Amino acid sequence: MVVVIDKNATKQEVENIIETLYKHGFDVHKSTGVNQTVLGAIGVQPDFDTNTIRVLPGVAEVYRITEQYKLASRSFKKENSVIKIGEDIFLGDNEVVIIAGPCSIESEDQMFKLAESLTALGAVVLRGGAFKPRSSPYSFQGLGEDGLRIMRNACDAFGLKMVTEVMDVSQIDTILQYADILQVGARNMQNFTLLRELGKAAKPVLLKRGLSATTEELLMSAEYILSGGNMDVILCERGIRTFERSTRNTMDLSSIPVIHQKSHLPIIADPSHAVGIRDKVIPMARAAIAAGADGIMVEVHPDPNNAMSDGGQSLYPEQFAQLMKEVKIIIQAIGRGLSTPGLKKKVAHSIRN
Ligand code: PEP
Ligand code: MN
Repeated sequence: MVVVIDKNATKQEVENIIETLYKHGFDVHKSTGVNQTVLGAIGVQPDFDTNTIRVLPGVAEVYRITEQYKLASRSFKKENSVIKIGEDIFLGDNEVVIIAGPCSIESEDQMFKLAESLTALGAVVLRGGAFKPRSSPYSFQGLGEDGLRIMRNACDAFGLKMVTEVMDVSQIDTILQYADILQVGARNMQNFTLLRELGKAAKPVLLKRGLSATTEELLMSAEYILSGGNMDVILCERGIRTFERSTRNTMDLSSIPVIHQKSHLPIIADPSHAVGIRDKVIPMARAAIAAGADGIMVEVHPDPNNAMSDGGQSLYPEQFAQLMKEVKIIIQAIGRGLSTPGLKKKVAHSIRN
């Protein structure tokens, strides 16, 4: 931690700052320049509250130089983590994983139709919510366990893996019986009780970035799951809320290389929730892959205009076909491959091994 001393600080104030740092277990190195005095506080204390020092008289600024997260950091693990989904999907590997499906599970007909067309077009994981975090309590809330059953059957019929959202601790056990990946939605990114419980789950967790969360906060949330013993965490950029109103959210593409630098965990992108408008999804999916996303997750519906949720951002299956055509070119151009499970058997090198 670096403490910059205010130009007008008195000798007494500086001594008090140094003493306080010692009291908290830091070693202190003082360097005095012509215009500025800076204190280097040595000693790694990831949970130290820098405000303890920031509020002292005579302090101009405090900078943390070590991350607050540990298990999620690149310094803890240099190689990329590869998350094994089922037997033969390796997310975080060189191959880009395509996840697609409706916002909500609505019916057997909808899920089977989609599972068939999406598999044929190259998706390997089916998405769909049975428990929906809706802004209004009067909107469709999801089919619950009936929906999970429908989705599992559709996945099994076409060899797809299944990702679905868990909103509450009370749903974990039920969802674990059906899903291959448990999704934590943007609104729950800081539901620490839920994250802690998922740390005990034996299935991968897809953790979406909160609407107003920094990449640092996303990694702190991942740390909750990792510290509980579940090392299979996939991060997801899904757009953040900004002053821009022409899209539902603003897709922060830079978070992809930023996360890759800070963490060994894989990160995928969800352009559907990021832009919220159907015709902006394909260009942002292309861009996310070009930026290094390890996968993309998009909403597709056989009849988007009559979807129970997020119809306006859901692609028609023909548009998903177009998306696949375009992203395959980008994937090849950046020297990656498309995840095509079943074609190759590889060994996962997740950090558990
Ligand atoms: C979803 O993926 O269905 C969803 C609700 O997304 P988010 O949590 O990113 O809003
Ligand atoms: Mn949705």
